[in-house]
Amino acid sequence: MFGRGVPKKSDNSKYYEILGVPKTASQDDLKKAYRKAAIKNHPDKGGDPEKFKELAQAYEVLSDPEKREIYDQYGEDALKEGMGGGGGAHDPFDIFQSFFGGGSRRQRRGEDVIHPLKVSLEDLYSGTSKKLSLSRNIICSKCKGKGSKSGASIKCPGCQGSGMKVSIRHLGPSMIQQMQHPCNECKGTGETINDKDRCQLCKGEKVVQEKKVLEVHVEKGMQNGQRITFPGEADEAPDTVTGDIVFVLQQKEHPKFKRKGDDLFYEHTLSLMEALCGFQFVLTHLDSRQLLIKSHPGEVVKPDQFKAINDEGMPMYQRAFMKGKLYIHFTVEFPDSLNPEQCKTLEAVLPPRSSTQLTDMELDECEETTLHDVNIEEEMRRKQGQQSQEAYDEDEDMHGGAQRVQCAQQ
Ligand SMILES: [Zn+2]
Ligand SMILES: [Zn+2]
Repeated sequence: MFGRGVPKKSDNSKYYEILGVPKTASQDDLKKAYRKAAIKNHPDKGGDPEKFKELAQAYEVLSDPEKREIYDQYGEDALKEGMGGGGGAHDPFDIFQSFFGGGSRRQRRGEDVIHPLKVSLEDLYSGTSKKLSLSRNIICSKCKGKGSKSGASIKCPGCQGSGMKVSIRHLGPSMIQQMQHPCNECKGTGETINDKDRCQLCKGEKVVQEKKVLEVHVEKGMQNGQRITFPGEADEAPDTVTGDIVFVLQQKEHPKFKRKGDDLFYEHTLSLMEALCGFQFVLTHLDSRQLLIKSHPGEVVKPDQFKAINDEGMPMYQRAFMKGKLYIHFTVEFPDSLNPEQCKTLEAVLPPRSSTQLTDMELDECEETTLHDVNIEEEMRRKQGQQSQEAYDEDEDMHGGAQRVQCAQQ
């Protein structure tokens, strides 16, 4: 039923205790119990938000016969598994609202503020923390977000308290367009504050600016694009649940290393001599460690070959003791030309030519050719361009042909 076999039995009486009902409680009993407790514990009425959440969670499970059966048999953990680890997946205010049919107004949620945060690959390798100074709105402490000394406000005369204004645009002699927009006098709140009653600290704005320093911990192994969230740190506003500040990591390009998941890629160019006869070099890692990289004796490295070092890649996020691989991609630089003397020396040590030596008679029967240098990519591009031009021309011809047939029919 759960895809992972029968789960271990976990606590299956907590929800009943939260609602204060026996395990034999009927749906009606549950409803009554939830109604009474949820009203009493609603945060809008000064109740404990944690308790309110627990009640909603308990009611959500027990009011659903299927969930209740799972809970009774296997306990809370089984439900968590079934719900993808989410536990009480729903907003307690939503549950309350659906129970009371919109009896409680849900608070507006403020917008999240998203900041990109540039980090280097070194930062993601070793971890770092960055202090960022931000300014944000907070509820005025002097007037507690009322905007006035007395706490009173009056209906905005500009919009009669609706917060919206309607403007009319004439589009033509008999056409008008009505447009609704937030009232500019009260900024859409529908209320205004008497000049004399205005809070002196926030000038009636209800919020004041605060400078705040946030310390962002970039952990080892974090990824480009990963989000670091500071819940409830965005702009505060009256009657609004404060949104989050979210930092999105943006990794800067590294001149030497490229990252793919937990692995690192490093480019290294060898001379032909090094590729044939061995090499060693020092690779400076992202944490400044010096790694000595060297070939095995007698080993030949071919152009475009990859080699890897285990456990020298990126640390894995939240498992930093585990690391990916470090791949080294070798490019081999060949000399542009060799003189006959050098060729002789090489011929003496390198494996012999694969082609058999041709006799004079065989050579006489062959035609001479000349090899010249080409830039193959450029030539292929040019040829492709020609082909699509030809296809286009053919298309034109067909249209022409079709037209001629039409003319003949007329
Ligand atoms: Zn207004
Ligand atoms: Zn104030």
